[in-house]
Amino acid sequence: MRKNGFRRPINPYQVSSWVFTFLFTAIFYILMLPAFQVDQAVLIGAAFSMFLTLFLMLGFLCTYSDPTDPAVIQGLQARIKSISVDAKKYPKICKLCRTHVSAGSKHCRFCNRCVNGFDHHCKWLNNCIGKKNYSTFAKLISVLEIILIMIVGTGSGILAGVLEDKDIKQNLIQNFNFSELLIKIYIAIICITVIICGIITIANAQLILLHIWLNYKGMSTYEYILKKRKAKASVSSENAVKGYSLNEMYEPYEENPEYSKDQTMVENSQAHHKQNLSFDSQSEANFEESMKFEKKCLTEAKNSLEHHSANRLASA
Ligand SMILES: [Zn+2]
Ligand SMILES: [Zn+2]
Repeated sequence: MRKNGFRRPINPYQVSSWVFTFLFTAIFYILMLPAFQVDQAVLIGAAFSMFLTLFLMLGFLCTYSDPTDPAVIQGLQARIKSISVDAKKYPKICKLCRTHVSAGSKHCRFCNRCVNGFDHHCKWLNNCIGKKNYSTFAKLISVLEIILIMIVGTGSGILAGVLEDKDIKQNLIQNFNFSELLIKIYIAIICITVIICGIITIANAQLILLHIWLNYKGMSTYEYILKKRKAKASVSSENAVKGYSLNEMYEPYEENPEYSKDQTMVENSQAHHKQNLSFDSQSEANFEESMKFEKKCLTEAKNSLEHHSANRLASA
């Protein structure tokens, strides 16, 4: 069971995300910023550094967080200490985690653990995104978009500047002591950076829009993929076989008998309680009625006694 994204096995996507971050950050600081005048470079550099710090912090938090279902951790601890867990609270049992899990849990085949409020397994972070780290993930992709826009914007500014404005070209020659050939290589590097970062910016913007839409629909990424696969599977049976190779076949769950028994018990006891309540109110009404009747009898007796004594006085 993998507890967080820093645990092995490390995913190649994760390594490439680190390489990309290092590479583009280095290109920005070493090659892009010196192309500007000092006051401009300080301003752009300060803003970029602020967002980069935030991005690295969020990236670390998202990778380091452990979104494992607390019920699984509880179950494991209980097994080690040989104590029992209050199983009545959990509706299902995961055969792979060998413990009770929460209703919204999903077993991740990459991390081999059940995740509460499972959204998806992120290969770039090598960690699951679930209830615990979803908001950090949302902030992370938002800050990433700002950083990418800054790199694309700065790079495009340099390219436009080299073509139109002589200042940037002069800065390059002065700051780097570039020859004409080196300037051409420099422009090629900036071009490639702008294209690659531009593509990632568009892809990341699509991801952000997808998550906004999923939130609006109240759906997780996993449910969305599952829905898409099912729609595809209904088109052709061949696709159905192909489509079921991922997580959706990974439903290693069985119903928790203690949970359903408990639910029936709760329902029965609720019904019984309701019956008792109605019985109580009925008997209360009966009691009040009998009290009224008794009071009436007493008044009648009192009246007849008064009448009787008045008659006796009259006859005397
Ligand atoms: Zn599990
Ligand atoms: Zn996972």
